[in-house]
Amino acid sequence: MALVSYVLGDCPGCGAENKFGNVDVYGDYVYLGCGRCRYNERHPLPPVKKKVLYLDQFFFSHAVRGKEARFVEATKRIVELAALQLLVVPYSSVHEEETHQWSRHQELLEFIKKTSRAMSSLPPMRWSRLN
Ligand SMILES: [Zn+2]
Repeated sequence: MALVSYVLGDCPGCGAENKFGNVDVYGDYVYLGCGRCRYNERHPLPPVKKKVLYLDQFFFSHAVRGKEARFVEATKRIVELAALQLLVVPYSSVHEEETHQWSRHQELLEFIKKTSRAMSSLPPMRWSRLN
């Protein structure tokens, strides 16, 4: 018997109605189980294709100005991929501090938050030195 977090249907083992479904994810597998009996299945998950992209202040300030075609094009792609959840653009408080040095900082900050999709929970200094 398992704690089913998302019901998929009837249990193939005992036949209990709407008791079978997703239980948990471990590594590359999703475990399915029954809320009534011990029947369970293990299915491999598709490989993760999500990419993490670290954008620096140089990119953001060019992108938000929208004057250079290559930055405009790159920005469009990033926003599209982020919307499809194929891309994660981490954002940290370091970005927020740095943008204050820029004249249109509010606009820039909005853009950073939009592309990073609220990934603001990262520790501020751990990755920012990679830029
Ligand atoms: Zn069952």
